[in-house]
Amino acid sequence: SDTNEPSKDVEQPPPLAGANVMNVILVAAECAPFSKTGGLGDVAGALPKALARRGHRVMVVVPRYAEYEEAKDVGVRKRYKVAGQDMEVMYYHAYIDGVDFVFIDSPVFRHLSSNIYGGNRLDILKRMVLFCKAAVEVPWYVPCGGVCYGDGNLAFIANDWHTALLPVYLKAYYRDHGLMKYTRSVLVIHNIAHQGRGPVDDFSHVDLPGHYLDSFKLYDPVGGEHFNIFAAGLKAADRVLTVSHGYSWEVKTLEGGWGLHHIINENDWKFRGIVNGIDTKEWNPKFDTHLHSDDYTNYSLETLNVGKPQCKAALQKELGLPVRPDVPLIGFIGRLDHQKGVDLIAEAVPWMMSQDVQLVMLGTGRPDLEEVLRQMEHQYRDKARGWVGFSVKTAHRITAGADILLMPSRFEPCGLNQLYAMNYGTIPVVHAVGGLRDTVQQFDPYSETGLGWTFDSAEAGKLIHALGNCLLTYREYKESWEGLQRRGMTQDLSWDNAAEKYEEVLVAAKYQW
Ligand code: ADP
Repeated sequence: SDTNEPSKDVEQPPPLAGANVMNVILVAAECAPFSKTGGLGDVAGALPKALARRGHRVMVVVPRYAEYEEAKDVGVRKRYKVAGQDMEVMYYHAYIDGVDFVFIDSPVFRHLSSNIYGGNRLDILKRMVLFCKAAVEVPWYVPCGGVCYGDGNLAFIANDWHTALLPVYLKAYYRDHGLMKYTRSVLVIHNIAHQGRGPVDDFSHVDLPGHYLDSFKLYDPVGGEHFNIFAAGLKAADRVLTVSHGYSWEVKTLEGGWGLHHIINENDWKFRGIVNGIDTKEWNPKFDTHLHSDDYTNYSLETLNVGKPQCKAALQKELGLPVRPDVPLIGFIGRLDHQKGVDLIAEAVPWMMSQDVQLVMLGTGRPDLEEVLRQMEHQYRDKARGWVGFSVKTAHRITAGADILLMPSRFEPCGLNQLYAMNYGTIPVVHAVGGLRDTVQQFDPYSETGLGWTFDSAEAGKLIHALGNCLLTYREYKESWEGLQRRGMTQDLSWDNAAEKYEEVLVAAKYQW
């Protein structure tokens, strides 16, 4: 179909990848803007486009959770056995921004869009078995632009435990039999806390030869002997990546590896950290479509002093807070769970509310933490808003309208919101951990360097101390504040740097393994 052809009037840049042009297939459980619960969706939406800009032939494979207007049925049907049951899949395809998007359709994925990881453990496991079995064969069955990808110069990029079966299937079904000899797999760790754990019996559902059982078996004091999908994926993959340097160090420790640290240490030779980029079209105050309407406005470094205050006033108005340019507006956006340190913010709320500030929190997740947000808004109507819900538009507007963004995460593999914030001239105050430590350099008033405020342990007292210094600078040292904003906004946070590093890894995996 004509959607497979690159648009003729868009000038194609010359390939940067040179002789190393590869076929790359990124496989993920979510991909923005089609499906997204967090950072993984953003990465799956943006990294493939950056790899395509370098001249690679890139495909994204993702479940079809809903009807996506752009994607058309390619007419191919395949059947896969999952836990003894025969399941049919169909393939939908769209060619967007130089990338082939392939959506795998089955009744088990449909109508899940607001609940991608919903259902019981076995339901999720079976969905992922079906998805990975189908995904590993996509290059043969789904014609993109009239031709299939083939298996030469082919590399799969799998992501987190949901698709960690893919490297295992590639090995067990093909490589072990001398097939797909030149195909490589890379497994990216976005969050090692979720591993696809279950009882050892789960092995009967993944449809692998018996000698593979050992690679899934793991023992730890918490889970006892159990079945662990991430463990098997880490062993089978040709390369393992994680989404920042800080996190690549943390996952090797007893505390940060969540039971998998020894596997990573044993496989250190194939392991590397690459900091995520951001989608600089989607998350750019200059082009942000969520700032087009109502009282908001687009802005850039040149118009920061007019545009950002206008966005702040618009946000205050939209949320029914007093419209005051001088009051520091503090934001939080994220999943409401233990990882994100929402409870630390809750602990700091009485102190914050004793200051002349406004606080806006957006998130969904644990019911008790959602209640904390509602309660806070109820108690401090004139100063605080707790928006329980998933709203991409509101996330963009808070990022533009707030002066300060809080991220007191207990652990943070990369973290994207602090990157978005800096690109919008919003100053991050973060717990210095994982990707937050990599990307937010502490402000130094003497040398006028740094990008925000950091604190070194996940405690409310430390958060208050860092935020206190931040507020002081906001109120008393306007020039320092503008310097922080300017440095944040002039960084190159695009995916282009990261894509080049991914390319290095793919090429190295091709020649050495
Ligand atoms: P994680 O992947 O651990 O959830 P990241 O900071 O890497 O954290 O990515 C979170 C992404 O999800 C960001 O794009 C953020 O804006 C978005 N997000 C999180 N919660 C919400 C929400 N309630 N509404 C809209 N977007 C959200």
